[in-house]
This record gives sequence, C-alpha cells and structure tokens, in this order.
Amino acid sequence: MHEIEEIMEAVEQHQELYRNALPLIASENVTSEKVRILLASDLSHRYAEGEVGARFYQGCKYIDAIEGRAIRWARELFRAEHVNVKPISGVNANIAALFALASPGDRMMALSVPDGGHISHSAYSVPGLRGLKLERIPFDPKEMNIDIDRTERAIRETKPKLILLGASLFLFPHPIREMLTAADEVDATLVYDASHVLGLIAGNKFQDPLGEGADVVTSSTHKTFPGPQGALILCKEVLGDRIDRAVFPGTVSNHHLHHIAGLAVTLQEMIHFGEAYAAQIQSNAKALAQALYEAGFNVLCEHKGFTESHQIAIDVRDLGGGDRIAKRLEEAYIITNKNMLPFDNEPDNPSGIRLGVQELTRIGMKESEMIEIASLMRRLLIEEEPAIKVRNDVKALKNDFQNVHYSFDGGLAYRNPALR
Ligand SMILES: *Cc1c(COP(=O)(O)O)cnc(C)c1O
Repeated sequence: MHEIEEIMEAVEQHQELYRNALPLIASENVTSEKVRILLASDLSHRYAEGEVGARFYQGCKYIDAIEGRAIRWARELFRAEHVNVKPISGVNANIAALFALASPGDRMMALSVPDGGHISHSAYSVPGLRGLKLERIPFDPKEMNIDIDRTERAIRETKPKLILLGASLFLFPHPIREMLTAADEVDATLVYDASHVLGLIAGNKFQDPLGEGADVVTSSTHKTFPGPQGALILCKEVLGDRIDRAVFPGTVSNHHLHHIAGLAVTLQEMIHFGEAYAAQIQSNAKALAQALYEAGFNVLCEHKGFTESHQIAIDVRDLGGGDRIAKRLEEAYIITNKNMLPFDNEPDNPSGIRLGVQELTRIGMKESEMIEIASLMRRLLIEEEPAIKVRNDVKALKNDFQNVHYSFDGGLAYRNPALR
C-alpha cells in the first residue's frame, strides 16, 4: 500500500466510526455540505493580512466581499456593535482579548477549571502568559453557578481590571447583570467567553451577554455554533480598534480564509434556523438528563431542571469514576469525556462525565432518541451488559441519523463530499 493510502484509510475508518457512533462531546459539531465544500476551496491557500478593503497583498477582491459579509451577518445575528472574525481558535480569541484589555501586573478574575473554567482561563495558560494576577470567581457547587454575593464582595476587594465569564462546564447562564454594579464601581472590563454556548445565543436562548452588559464576547465557532473550527470576538464600538489591533497584527498574521467563508454560510444557517435549533438542543438536553436521572444516574442539579444549556454533568464516582466510565462508553460507541467537578483536584481521574447534545440535535435527534440513549447507557453502565451488545443497538439507532439538519443543503454528516 502506498503511504498516502494509509492516511486515506485512517480517515475513512474515522468517518466510519463516527457514522456508527453517538458523539456526545459537548465541544463538537458537524458542518453542512456547503461549508465542507468551501473548506476545500482555493481560499485555503491564500493570504489576506489586514482589514477588509485595506490588505497588504493583492488578489483579495473576493476575500474582502466574503469577510465583509461574515462581519455584517455576525453583527446582525448577535446585535453586536463591532465584530472581528479573524481569530483562528477560541484560545487565540482569548489571547487577543487579554492582550487588548489588560497589561502585565493587572488583576483579573475567572472561574477555576474544576468549577468549569476553560484551561485558557487558568494561570497556566493565557492569564499567565499575559503576566496577570489571577483570582478565582467564587462558585456555588450546589447551584453549579457563580456565587453572586461572594463574587460581588470579591470584585470590590480585588478590584480586577478584567473579569472573564463563561465556562467549559456550563449548565446555567452566568449572572452578568447582577455583577455589573460592582464591576462598574472598580472599572473592570467584562469579557464573556461564549465558546460553548454561541449557537444557543445565536438562537436567542440561554442568555444575551452583550445585551446584559458584557463589554466583549470571545468565542470559538464550532461547538453549539455549528461552523468550521475558528473563533470570533464581538464587542462595543469603543473597544473595536483595540480588539482589531490585538488580533492583527497582535496575535494573528494570516487568518484562515476558507473558514471565514464557512463561517459566513453558518451565520446564515443560524439566522434562518437558529431559533428552532437552539430550542431543540435545550429540550433534548433536559430530556436526556431527566431520563438518565430516572435510570439511576447521579445527574447534577435535579433541583434546577438539570441544565439550561446543551450540556449535562453526571457524577459517576459510584460507578468507578470519570475515566473508567468514559472508556467503557467508548467501547459501546458512545463518545463522551471525563470531566472535573467542583470538588475535584485530580484531572486524570475526575468524578464526572460531561455530555452535550448539540451534534445529535444537528443530525435530527429529538426527545424520544434521548430517552433511548439513556436506556442504552443504563444497560451498559448500571446493568453491566456486554459493550458489544449495546454497541449493536447504538449502531442501529444511529443508522437513521446521518444528515445535517438546520441548514439549506443538509449533506451527509460523517462523509466529506470531496472524499465520499
Ligand atoms: C473550547 C473552549 C475554548 C477554546 O476553544 P478552541 O477553539 O479549542 O481554542 C475557549 N474557552 C472555552 C470556555 C472553551 O470551552
């Protein structure tokens, strides 16, 4: 076999696995056929440093038209005064935002990783890189949300230059309005990292961070927002120049133009289908959580209806811990991840698993499929049925859900039109 064939075959095997599996990783999604075609276009070869209409290279006439539309459509969809679509990942967007809005030695506040904060919110990553003094946002593990009373006090004591909201384990909207007074008193900039929930925000669900008072929103564009991998920054007009300069030339030289075209198409998908999509995600997440709870799983926050987002969190200590359970689920082709919960300090074997229903929603699953999935998980993890038996039923269930929904052209979810 020629060496290239080894790669083609591995890609085919990967697609076959996902064709048969139930992907429940909360940070992933699938793009529509049109977006995949654009990702394979000539745009993937080009450079367009600079801003729309003011590039450093020639040949950018059509790229300007594409990026201009992406900016305009994002401004419309998110009711944002200013938009930058260039950051190539969520972490990249956070680097640019912290570069623009804080200086070495400044104080900032963010959630810790066990409380749901993303690794890029930790001292180990972007705040450390920027030389910031990091304080934790106080968190209430019972409510799985920011503890607003302690946070207001902490803001007044710490006087942070910047407060970073948003999370990777993100069940309930963050109390932005409630912390505005304290943040204003100390002149802190409020940044909201919407990476996980941008698709819900696009569908007018979960919360509207800009409308509620955040100054800046950073976000990846491929989690609940079902676009190509990448990121964007939304902000108030007064911060626009600072953000743009921190992105280019600060932290991005060439952005990924094929992804900008894909982002533009996905923005139109969300303008047209976003509300129905986001509503179904929330409804599916609640249905899966309720069914798992009734099946005997320790799903967090039953007293609050489990979740308002695409995610649910399960404490699986009784079943052997997050590492064991995530691996056992994979044997049955149910793809999830182990996840730290607020009382954890051991990232390799945390207490929880996290599930997200956005991708299963995008391929057309509804509440009745969520109930079926809960039953499959019960058979595998509580009744200890052999993984191979459960896997056969997982494959049978998945067989009917192979197309992308909430888009103009659909397309096969687990086949690249160019490789089919
Ligand atoms: C996933 C995530 C990111 C990182 O996004 P990438 O596109 O993977 O760099 C940033 N912040 C939060 C809260 C996330 O969940």
